[in-house]
Amino acid sequence: MSLTTVAQAAYLVAAVLFILSLAGLSKQETARRGNVLGMVGMGVALVATIVLSLKDSVRSPWVTALLIALVLVVGAVIGTWRARTVEMTQMPELIAMLHSFVGAAAVIIGYNSYLTEKAGGAHLVEVFLGVLIGAVTFTGSIIAFLKLSARIKSNPLTLPGRNLLNLGALVVSFALMGWFVAAPSIWPLAIMTVVALALGLHLVAAIGGGDMPVVVSMLNSYSGWAAAAAGFMLGNDLLIVTGSLVGSSGAILSYLMCKAMNRSFISVILGGFGAEGGKVSAAAVGGEHREVSAAEAAELLSSARSVIVTPGYGMAVAKAQYPVAELVTRLREKGVTVRFGVHPVAGRLPGHMNVLLAEAKVPYDIVLEMDEINDDFKDTDVVLVIGANDTVNPAALEDPGSPIAGMPVLHVWEAHQVIVFKRSMATGYAGVPNPLFYRENTAMLFGDAKTQVEAILAAL
Ligand code: NDP
Repeated sequence: MSLTTVAQAAYLVAAVLFILSLAGLSKQETARRGNVLGMVGMGVALVATIVLSLKDSVRSPWVTALLIALVLVVGAVIGTWRARTVEMTQMPELIAMLHSFVGAAAVIIGYNSYLTEKAGGAHLVEVFLGVLIGAVTFTGSIIAFLKLSARIKSNPLTLPGRNLLNLGALVVSFALMGWFVAAPSIWPLAIMTVVALALGLHLVAAIGGGDMPVVVSMLNSYSGWAAAAAGFMLGNDLLIVTGSLVGSSGAILSYLMCKAMNRSFISVILGGFGAEGGKVSAAAVGGEHREVSAAEAAELLSSARSVIVTPGYGMAVAKAQYPVAELVTRLREKGVTVRFGVHPVAGRLPGHMNVLLAEAKVPYDIVLEMDEINDDFKDTDVVLVIGANDTVNPAALEDPGSPIAGMPVLHVWEAHQVIVFKRSMATGYAGVPNPLFYRENTAMLFGDAKTQVEAILAAL
């Protein structure tokens, strides 16, 4: 059997492992196994790719081996360092940054492929589309990175005629593709690259805070298609399969997130098409708020029969999941019914809260999704809102002028008592004031969520 056949067989094994990995990742109970399968698949793919590139090397295989070893070491050192130092709260921005690398790689592979290979029609289209998708992914992911790490404002950029600008950029790009195929030269490719870089930048800049979750999964999808395009250019089947898997699973995730947030999928992928972005809340929010101490909160919890915890981004910032898990254990030991209500976009990346709660060993069967728990708030004694804000904002249902109007939220205010853990009266990621904080049955417990939950534990 030739080396190429063995490598192709290894690619097939890797592709199957990637599919099994995705299947595993779709459920919490099997997520670890999914991760392991993905890692094994990637290991197999790497070895097969290295073997193939040594075999097909135009230079001495030793030089190629040395170059590959060098990049592997540099990549592994940087990757290990980042993975070890990254905070859970920085994961979304790290992922956005990694997507930008995939985009940049597709652009570079496209140019390399065009400049080094004499190719005809179909290959030219592959090169052109690969560079187009790669460039949009590259700048789009950089803007997402800047927005998610709060280096730039998360407000939507609403240029006049922005939908026409996006449409114009696409029309110009396809005209340039016609030119590129009819009379191949670097010019149409270079002009399109500039247009596509600007398009990526504008598409993501036009999307406001509350819709960012969809952008993250959408860029995930784009990066998959960019990788698939690179696979076509390089004639690498595994890259085509893997890219398509990432591309389609990212698209499905974006669709599910849009459904969960009651947003139009088309509107979001077209850069906020038709959205009334940037409008300030019509209803004035304000009044008196009430505060409680940790000791008073502990007292309330002691006399409660049913409790729901709704975690949000602030729990991740405070790393409060461990004391929260302990509090839940203590309350359950006392016979209190305790459950978690997790909003689909709580935190800063899909599944963020589920990962944190799993990390703190909270049993899966008491972690419920928004739709499963929303009807139960009215029969609940105490709700603990731990660092959540936008996901528990009643303005989404009650104020049609609000930028988050129409987004389903957790109906925490229907419970008898709500205790909100946060450090100030500040708004959440979408920048929308929250009338929940002024309701009669709401009490604010100010301070760092971890410190305050620990104080409650001490007082119980
Ligand atoms: P929010 O971002 O709306 O609010 C988090 C709250 O946590 C803040 O109001 C903050 O208030 C509080 N907080 C911060 N640090 C601490 C701390 N140390 N201790 C206690 N409280 C703290 O959170 P949600 O999870 O409710 O909503 C998520 C938002 O992020 C949504 O708008 C969603 O669209 C968006 N988003 C979600 C993504 C996803 O995929 N899940 C991706 C990108 C964006 P204070 O400063 O007063 O303490």
